[in-house]
Amino acid sequence: MIHIFCDFDGTITTRDSTDFVMERLAAPGWLQIEEQWQRGEIGSAECMRRQVALIRATKQELDQTLDEVQIDDGFSDFAAFCEASGTGMTIISDGVDYFIHHILGRHGLDKFPIIANRLTITPEHVYQLASPWRSATCVSSAGVCKCSIVGKEQAHRMYVGDSRSDFCVASKPEMVFAKGKLADYCDKNDIPYAPYNNFHNVTDGLARLLQDVPVHMKAI
Ligand SMILES: [Mg+2]
Ligand SMILES: [Zn+2]
Repeated sequence: MIHIFCDFDGTITTRDSTDFVMERLAAPGWLQIEEQWQRGEIGSAECMRRQVALIRATKQELDQTLDEVQIDDGFSDFAAFCEASGTGMTIISDGVDYFIHHILGRHGLDKFPIIANRLTITPEHVYQLASPWRSATCVSSAGVCKCSIVGKEQAHRMYVGDSRSDFCVASKPEMVFAKGKLADYCDKNDIPYAPYNNFHNVTDGLARLLQDVPVHMKAI
């Protein structure tokens, strides 16, 4: 069996949904928080929590904004291929669970387990983010420590990612698909990976991988 762990922002989506929501709906100050994070003064979990608290919008306004976030045009076929081949997939993101559910739901794809930071919106439109998947021991300061979650998986693991939130996990899976900053990171750290541009490439890679897995482990 192969289990796929897939990043969300910049991997399934064509842009970072949290950044997009901030640009549209956050009160002034979110960029200063971003700069503090870039200078290393605060961790990414704290950065996200404080930024999300600056969202000033009704749920309807938030949903309308999320409706503008596009996904990779090969992801739907990839999801269908996973289902047809009995390959499990978990979406693992240092982003916001509500954003992921909403964006995937629009495409009829909100059917995979999602591990992400948890958003609560109060009736007064106060936005609160919790990070139940945080790890005190991880090198990353992320709200979701991907390495400890992926590290526990017993099946053959395939990972698909694009950026900094994927660094801590990059050396764990048997197979990594990387683009962007994650590909640069893998290059620098001698971590083997398959480059990809879109999910059509990842589907092809998974199909080849399923053929190469010994027969008794085959998922199809
Ligand atoms: Mg990403
Ligand atoms: Zn980690």
